[in-house]
Amino acid sequence: MGLPDNYDVVVAGGGNAALCAAITAARAGRSVIVLEAAPKFYRGGNTRHTRNVRVAQAGGVEHMTGVYEPEEFFDDLQRVTDGRTDEPLARLTIERSAELPHWLKEQGVLFGPPLGGTLSLGRTNAFFLGGGRGELNRLYRTAEALGVTLLYDTPVTALKIDNGFFLSAMVKHKGEAQEIRGRSFVAAAGGFEANLELLKKYWGPAADNFLIRGTPFNRGDVLRMLLEKGVMAVGDPTQCHAVAIDARAPKFDGGIATRLDSIIFGIVVNKQAERFYDEGEDLWPKRYAIWGRLIAQQPGQIAYSIVDSKSFGLFMPSIFPALTAGSIGDLAKKLELDPLALEKAVAEFNAAVVPGTFDQTQLDDCRTEGLRIPKSHWARPIDQPPYYAYPLRPGITFTYLGVKVSQEGRMVMSESQASANMFAAGEIMAGNVLGKGYLAGIGMTIGSVFGRVAGEGAAAHAAN
Ligand SMILES: Cc1cc2nc3c(=O)[nH]c(=O)nc-3n(C[C@H](O)[C@H](O)[C@H](O)COP(=O)(O)OP(=O)(O)OC[C@H]3O[C@@H](n4cnc5c(N)ncnc54)[C@H](O)[C@@H]3O)c2cc1C
Repeated sequence: MGLPDNYDVVVAGGGNAALCAAITAARAGRSVIVLEAAPKFYRGGNTRHTRNVRVAQAGGVEHMTGVYEPEEFFDDLQRVTDGRTDEPLARLTIERSAELPHWLKEQGVLFGPPLGGTLSLGRTNAFFLGGGRGELNRLYRTAEALGVTLLYDTPVTALKIDNGFFLSAMVKHKGEAQEIRGRSFVAAAGGFEANLELLKKYWGPAADNFLIRGTPFNRGDVLRMLLEKGVMAVGDPTQCHAVAIDARAPKFDGGIATRLDSIIFGIVVNKQAERFYDEGEDLWPKRYAIWGRLIAQQPGQIAYSIVDSKSFGLFMPSIFPALTAGSIGDLAKKLELDPLALEKAVAEFNAAVVPGTFDQTQLDDCRTEGLRIPKSHWARPIDQPPYYAYPLRPGITFTYLGVKVSQEGRMVMSESQASANMFAAGEIMAGNVLGKGYLAGIGMTIGSVFGRVAGEGAAAHAAN
C-alpha cells in the first residue's frame, strides 16, 4: 500500500473519540495512524449526527448561559443511570469536560448558539457550529496538518494481542490485507448498534423492528476482538440509548431528522390502541431517551403518537408528514388500528383530564385523574380536529456493552491488571459511565475526554 507499517500509535475508528486521541498523541510528537472502516464521505460514524457536547462550566463560556457545576452534572448522571456508573470514571469525565470548549476550539472546532427548540440545553451543552460533521471536518483537518496518517475504507479485521499487550492490527485496505504494527493502540470503533445479528442475540426477534439512527459501520467487530482477547467487559448488552423515531425512517443513518418530539403533547398508544406509559412524566429532555425502550417492549415494536390540532405545531416539525383525519375513528383506520378501541382510549383519556394551565416549558398542572396509566403533565383533551398521528419505532442510537477501562483509559484485563499499551475511548467504553439511561450530550463528553486521556496514555507509552 506504499505506507509505513509501523506507527507509535494505531487508532481504530474515525469518529470524535478516535480523532481526539489521534490529535492528542500527534501533538505529543508521536507518529499516528487512524484506521477508519467507512469511506471518506461517511467518515466519522455516529459523530456525524451529533449537535452538542455536555460540559461542566463555571460561566463565561462563549455561546453558553449560566453555570453548570460539576456536582450538578454528577447528580444528573446519578439520576439517569440509577447510580449505575463507575464513580471515579464519571467524576473524571465531568471534571475534564470543563476543558473541552477551550480544547476543542484549539483544535479548530467552532461553536454556535443553541438552536431554538433544542430542548433548552444552553446552560449544559455546547453546540457545534455545523453540527457533528462540522466538528469532525475541523478535527480531520487538524489531524492532517499534524501529519496523522488517515486511512478510509480500512476496517480493522483482526488484532494481534499477546497477554494484554497490543502488537499489531490486521486491516483490509483497497481489497488487500495488511498488518500495521504499533507501540500503542487506541480502540475508538464505536458500539455494536449496527450489528443486527448481535442485537437479535440480546433482544430476540424484537430487534428486527429496531431502526439504527447512525452509521452502519459500527458493528462491534473491534469490541468483539478485544473481548475475545481477554479484555474485561463492562455493561449490560441489552442497555443502549434508544429514542422514539418515525417508523418510516430508513433502517440506518436516519440521524436526528427522524426523531419525533410530539409525545408529551398528546397520547401514545400501541398496536392494540392502548396507552402504556405516562407521556407527561417529566420534562422532555429528561425523558425522551426512555421511549425507544418502551416501544421496544410493545407488541410488534410499534406505537403511535396522537395529537389534535391545538397541539400540532408546538413541537419540532417532522421530516415525514403526519397522518391526519377528521375523526379519531378515521385516523385509526389510517393507522390500521381498531377504530372502536382507539375511540375508547381517547374518550377515557379526555374524561380523565383535570383542567389546568398548559405550559410546555415547565411541569404544569394539566394532568389526568383516575387512569391506570396517568398523564402527569401537559394533559389536555384530544378533541379538536383534524387529528394527527405519527407511527413510532425504537431508534437505537448506541449500545453500552463495552471494554472496561481504568482512570488512564487503559483497557482492563483483570481486576489487578490493566493493559500497558491498549486504550479505549468513546462508545466502545461508554458503558463504564453509562450503566443505563442517558444524559443529552454525554456521548460526546465521554468520547472527547477519554479520547484525550487515551491519546495522552498511548503517546506516553509509545515514547518509552
Ligand atoms: C442521530 C444521533 C444523534 C446524536 N446526537 C448526539 C449529540 O448531540 N451529542 C452527543 O453527545 N451524542 C450524540 N449522539 C451519540 C454520539 O454520536 C456518540 O456518543 C459519539 O459520536 C461516539 O463517538 P465515537 O467516536 O465513540 O463513535 P463514532 O463516532 O460512531 O465512531 C466510530 C467509528 O469507528 C469506525 N469503525 C467501526 N468498526 C470499525 C473497524 N472494524 N475498523 C475501523 N473502524 C471501525 C466507524 O466507521 C466510525 O467511524 C448521537 C448519535 C446519533 C446516532
